[in-house]
Amino acid sequence: MGEDKPRILVVGAGIGGLAAAAALGQAGIETIVFERLDGLIAVGGAFTIASNAMLALRELGLDSALAERGAVIKYFSHRTWRGKELARWPLVDFARDAGAPVVGIGRPEVQDVLLQAVDDSDVRFGWKCIGVVQDESGVTASFENGREERGTALVAADGEQSTVRRLVDETPLRYSGHTTWQGAVTFDEFAPATQTQSYGRGVLFGTRPIGGGKVYWYASRTAPPGTSVPADAKAELLELVRGWHDPIEQLVDATDVKAMLPHLDVYDLPRRDSWGKGRITLLGDAAHPMAPALGQGACQAIEDGVKLARQLARAHGDNIPARLRRYEAERIARTAPIVERARTQDRISHGDTTTERIARSLGLRLAPARAIAKRYKDLFTFEP
Ligand SMILES: Cc1cc2nc3c(=O)[nH]c(=O)nc-3n(C[C@H](O)[C@H](O)[C@H](O)COP(=O)(O)OP(=O)(O)OC[C@H]3O[C@@H](n4cnc5c(N)ncnc54)[C@H](O)[C@@H]3O)c2cc1C
Repeated sequence: MGEDKPRILVVGAGIGGLAAAAALGQAGIETIVFERLDGLIAVGGAFTIASNAMLALRELGLDSALAERGAVIKYFSHRTWRGKELARWPLVDFARDAGAPVVGIGRPEVQDVLLQAVDDSDVRFGWKCIGVVQDESGVTASFENGREERGTALVAADGEQSTVRRLVDETPLRYSGHTTWQGAVTFDEFAPATQTQSYGRGVLFGTRPIGGGKVYWYASRTAPPGTSVPADAKAELLELVRGWHDPIEQLVDATDVKAMLPHLDVYDLPRRDSWGKGRITLLGDAAHPMAPALGQGACQAIEDGVKLARQLARAHGDNIPARLRRYEAERIARTAPIVERARTQDRISHGDTTTERIARSLGLRLAPARAIAKRYKDLFTFEP
């Protein structure tokens, strides 16, 4: 394969894969995305897209389109399971300092905005990657449909359970200790422009508006891996939040089971010195799965995509592996501390032990506004 014109294979059309494809395309680099599913998932998930990811999307000219499809979030209200407010953080102030809003939005809407920046013919649905081999001049990916594709490099954006990661990185996933439920429902806004999180003993429940009159909710509880009953996910959750403050039970009850995501155990990965080998690299959850406590998984995947394109835009001759290692070094420095912060925050937020519950309560009630602002300043920054 000639080195003059890079041809990048991206595995996975999630948020990270599509962000990378949009950024690479804008840098004039030929890119093909392979997605195992037959189309984009239309239900269930949603995110807070924080200021840092909005700034990264601004680099691609996509931030306004995304903001229009979601709901601006101004406050983060923390409550006890009985409904007493423990803290109310002014995200609107942190966002103003960062220079971009915080937006609650459905996963399909984010994917749709990113897809509009990618040439249709560059995304192939129904292509499940099952193997990758590389040599001195390129990579060859093989797919379950019997086809093969050759490129100058391969970016694995195939999520937390990444098939490709296992070929280049044997570090085992770390279970977070928590299992989640997620869903979206049309509902009078729980609290306008406000993201909420309510806390019990080993359990938490969060909501956020995502535009179009919809509310996205998630719940999480401490449990050994693989112990929840997927078939009865809604009943199990209703039992868990029985007696919690209004309208938590009503929200879950009103949610169509088809608008709930499959029950999910949460894993992360500790810091490694590199993510890939040769002409293969990782991006998004494939590289740095993290607990959802800081709402940064998808945001960091978007940042990854923009930064990867920056590196590959400068690639020439046979320096692609070196460029990929530079991308990894830059992104490991950014994401590894966030993974650890999210892990610690996740544990405290669940409050399994009395000590954790005291830390959680004191942290929320007494933390000085300046300390909260500083915590967000680090997260909400994006260095172009
Ligand atoms: C409860 C909860 C709340 C969250 N809230 C937030 C939030 O508010 N903000 C935020 O930023 N993040 C949040 N996250 C994290 C976020 O969901 C993930 O970090 C994000 O979806 C990762 O995107 P990705 O593109 O890397 O991976 P994924 O979204 O997992 O996408 C991977 C894609 O690859 C495809 N694929 C997999 N294997 C193959 C294969 N072999 N061949 C081809 N295609 C393949 C999959 O079908 C999928 O489309 C939350 C997570 C949870 C669990």
